[in-house]
Amino acid sequence: MLKTIQILGSSSGLVKPQTTSCCRLSFISSISTKPFSSCSRPTNLLFPGPSARRTRFGAFSMSSAHSGSNPAAPSSSSSSSSTVVQSVGNARKINFCQWCGGPTKHEVPDGEEKIRAICTVCDRIAYENPKMVVGCLIEHDNMVLLCKRNIQPSYGLWTLPAGYLEIGESAAEGAIRETWEEACAEVEIVSPFAQLDIPLIGQTYIIFLARLKKAQFSPGPESSECRLFALDDIPFDSLSFSSMVVTLKLYAEDVKAGKVKFHYGTINKRPGTSPSDINAYTLDHHMQS
Ligand SMILES: [Zn+2]
Repeated sequence: MLKTIQILGSSSGLVKPQTTSCCRLSFISSISTKPFSSCSRPTNLLFPGPSARRTRFGAFSMSSAHSGSNPAAPSSSSSSSSTVVQSVGNARKINFCQWCGGPTKHEVPDGEEKIRAICTVCDRIAYENPKMVVGCLIEHDNMVLLCKRNIQPSYGLWTLPAGYLEIGESAAEGAIRETWEEACAEVEIVSPFAQLDIPLIGQTYIIFLARLKKAQFSPGPESSECRLFALDDIPFDSLSFSSMVVTLKLYAEDVKAGKVKFHYGTINKRPGTSPSDINAYTLDHHMQS
């Protein structure tokens, strides 16, 4: 379940993670309280071993897609004499300790360089780290499976089945689970397809190529519709997030070039563009196998 996701993979300096009292990050008004799934869970979440993988992964090569530095500087800072000290993520918004409930102070811990929320009672430091989003790009009869979101954000827009990785599962297992939850589709992983980092909002996407075990799918609770799209029919104007635009464009380019590769890249927002413009991104540091 992608309970919480970026509005604009490249853009969302305006959509900052909020830290809750538990270990899970959430985003503005995007917490889902829906039941786990209306589908019956698959009995086997295993995926094929290396022998089933489509490709081997050799050394990466840089593409020409590099387009400059990350425009997404951390949002808050404070100055101390001649140096500027940056806080990390939402450190300044963390006012209470997640372990003991005590009030926090916002200082630079000894030996560090950035402002953190430090508990004034138990002295623990609330480090924030990026979240991993996992999902599947499902190929079937030269088409790909997309889900229309039945929840905010990006209600009514199309996405690959994807969501936050849970503690205790591998990235591949999480991608299979998310696919089941959002598309009631049993899939097996073919190969990793893309890792896309979105530093601005602290997310990393891992997208796997997958295939349907059975040619069956239907919308789960977070989807209003699931459909197979031919490459030329992918609704690029109605996709939910920049990460999906990037993933599907890379995939379509690969298929048309005759070889599906593995891609790594960093999605950054183009300066001065609207947060709601999912095409206002740059794919930086793009490497492919
Ligand atoms: Zn504490």
